[in-house]
Amino acid sequence: MSSTLDRSAVQSSLNVWQMAQRQLDDIASIIGLDASIHAYLREPKRALIVSVPVRMDSGAIKVFEGYRVQHNMARGPAKGGIRFHPDVTIDEVKALAMWMTWKCALVNIPFGGAKGGVICDAKNMSMQELENLTRRFTSEISIIIGPEKDIPAPDVYTTPQIMAWIMDTFSMQKGYSIPGVVTGKPIAIGGSLGRDKATARGCLYVVQEAMKELGLSDGARVAIQGFGNAGLNAAELMLEAGYKIVAVSDSRGGVANTDGLDVQKIVAHKAETGSVVGFSGGEQISNKDVLEYDCDVLIPAALEKVITAENAPRIKAKIIAEAANGPTMPEADEILQERGIMVLPDILANAGGVTVSYFEWVQDLQENFWEEQTVNDRLRIIMVRAFRETLERAKKYNVNMRRGAYAVAVGRVAEATSLRGVYP
Ligand code: NAD
Repeated sequence: MSSTLDRSAVQSSLNVWQMAQRQLDDIASIIGLDASIHAYLREPKRALIVSVPVRMDSGAIKVFEGYRVQHNMARGPAKGGIRFHPDVTIDEVKALAMWMTWKCALVNIPFGGAKGGVICDAKNMSMQELENLTRRFTSEISIIIGPEKDIPAPDVYTTPQIMAWIMDTFSMQKGYSIPGVVTGKPIAIGGSLGRDKATARGCLYVVQEAMKELGLSDGARVAIQGFGNAGLNAAELMLEAGYKIVAVSDSRGGVANTDGLDVQKIVAHKAETGSVVGFSGGEQISNKDVLEYDCDVLIPAALEKVITAENAPRIKAKIIAEAANGPTMPEADEILQERGIMVLPDILANAGGVTVSYFEWVQDLQENFWEEQTVNDRLRIIMVRAFRETLERAKKYNVNMRRGAYAVAVGRVAEATSLRGVYP
């Protein structure tokens, strides 16, 4: 058996939660993490499983399962998105919550990590069904969320409208408006300017830093998997910044053009047809082909575990910026490192979203709203600093950027945990 096949066998046995725990174990040994703190950080602080009865349009009641996991709150209230997807599992939500802890620590905002999810096929539910689901789910998790406890946000297949329903349901229970309970809200009810594009903008800022570091010139070719909040906005912002978008995809497939795609026309095509597939200005390729497309910068912006030991040897990009959470399997990471590809890890590359969510929460609490330029300028300062700290730590330990980022983040959480003395 070839070594590549051996590696595939190892990785296929890891689920996403085991992958997250393995990443922590890995950095614990590199930075010499205290064993008690390591054991404490290896598990979530709290995990709530809720049953969510919803009246469907047919009149029938359907019961959904939902989760809210709070991984750690040593540095502040927990923070993390809510995902509506048929493949949500408690293990996935636990992993995403742990990654939120590291992400908030890496960009040094005063939050811990949480995540939520409901197992549902949101794409095939009506607005009324989604509202019923969101309101009942919010009510069930309201015992552990709140502006000073745990603040949800959007994630896969959840939108500003869904955030508005969360805010409204929570506020109804308390009897007054509490915008700070959730971020990613519409502007009219306390959202922040710049939040809609923040994940993609943060990703652009760290890609620009990486390009400088590697001595690459502007005008690089970019391939993007996923064309939702993270992927679509990344395509638009990178085009604006002078990059050439050569391939994009969504859940149904992809489209590519070595001369560059007309992003605005693809956005219009997707708005009209529901997918990038069928766009006439490029060749049709599969969703998986996008990852191996000839480009300088690859942005996985969809779901987890898409870069594996099987496809890592064929990836052509020089930089991978993980707009998605957990797109790269640990075994693939090793291959990419051997091949000299710089991976900007999820906790760095997509931290722009939570950073502007933090700005939104601050603005809500202060009832004082900022200009978009102020939001973007403050975001850039934080992203560039996080990139530099990650690089400095990667060099110090002679490790890749993921381990550099983890060294900074886990070190900060461990310090807070140790100072508070909340571990056994
Ligand atoms: P979204 O719902 O707006 O978009 C998801 C996109 O992924 C859609 O284009 C969908 O077609 C595509 N997709 C779904 N299944 C796919 C599959 N199997 N293969 C390829 N594409 C598929 O979600 P989003 O908010 O853009 O989130 C995407 C990723 O970015 C997730 O990993 C999320 O955790 C991460 N992220 C998002 C934010 C944010 O602010 N929205 C912040 C940090 C991280």
